Amino acid sequence: MSDWNLLNRFPRVRLLNGPTPIQRLDRLEQVLGERRRGVSIWTKRDDLMELGGGGNKLRKLEFLIGQALSEGCETLVVTGGVQSNFARLAAAACARTGLACEVVLAQMVPRVAEIYQANGNVLLDRLFGARVHLLHTGDDAGAFARGRASDIAAAGGKAFVATLGGSTPVGALGYVDCAFEVEVQSTEIGIAFDQMIVPNGSGGMHAGLVAGAVLAGKDPSKIKAYTVLSPAEACIAATVEKVNAVFDLLGEKHRVRGEELAIEGAQLGGGYGMPTSDMVEAISLVGRSEGLLLDPVYGGKAFAGLLSDIENEVIAPGSNVLFVMTGGSPGLYAYADALSST
Ligand SMILES: *Cc1c(COP(=O)(O)O)cnc(C)c1O
Repeated sequence: MSDWNLLNRFPRVRLLNGPTPIQRLDRLEQVLGERRRGVSIWTKRDDLMELGGGGNKLRKLEFLIGQALSEGCETLVVTGGVQSNFARLAAAACARTGLACEVVLAQMVPRVAEIYQANGNVLLDRLFGARVHLLHTGDDAGAFARGRASDIAAAGGKAFVATLGGSTPVGALGYVDCAFEVEVQSTEIGIAFDQMIVPNGSGGMHAGLVAGAVLAGKDPSKIKAYTVLSPAEACIAATVEKVNAVFDLLGEKHRVRGEELAIEGAQLGGGYGMPTSDMVEAISLVGRSEGLLLDPVYGGKAFAGLLSDIENEVIAPGSNVLFVMTGGSPGLYAYADALSST
């Protein structure tokens, strides 16, 4: 576990209260009955964080804001889709740490309804005091963000820019940390997880978990990801690059290859942020059997993939799986139309 100390030299602000719990979904297992094939379904509750509604981006923001503060920045400029959880949690984390925040929201999903453009995460971005730049279709969020940073510099300030999902090598350190946290918890509860299950969007979470697993001497293919943003092949290439960039940042010689990563494209449906009926069904199943919330863009699709892999015995019957619940429930309100059809 000494490799955990590799993270100590990176500036970090604490945004979590401590380790997030690991819990078993007993009721869901009962409801699934024979369909669960004897698989034990556990969750890593990364939706359970006190700040800003919680979610996986807070782990990345601990290191990203750490970096921003160490560089003397007083403004954070982030980009994302209109319903970006990263933007919401950046806004909340800035409120907590005293930074100014600007969120640049791109039209990544063809959803024009008021609930999508103004409710859910966007509503919260504003409540957390961020300046919201809601871009038009075709506008380049990265270019806009860099433009804001130079305007801020021209006015004598200093901005730190974090684009899409905060999945830089520094941001991914948050999930290297999480990988070690899971190792410790797994020893404490006496369960060796056969597989970890995650959604892969901008890839930083998956990349961080894979890097952490390799550092802990584990097999990276035991982390199964469902891509929700790019097709599987592109997602594998991008994630490999991110994992290796994390090793470089840590000064480690490890390398992973595409064949070692488990990334599946079957849940992508019509693309990023596009609802699928399996996603709606998974959210509804977890809601009515556990009283827990998955989100429509990431967790709902990944959980649908998990259910399908369990039923088809792609996941070995009788194994222990750990599904990472990543938060994102504000996004549910932006998809009321898709979800109310259940
Ligand atoms: C961003 C996000 C993910 C995916 O994490 P990446 O690092 O972008 O792959 C999963 N779930 C939720 C709720 C998210 O907001």
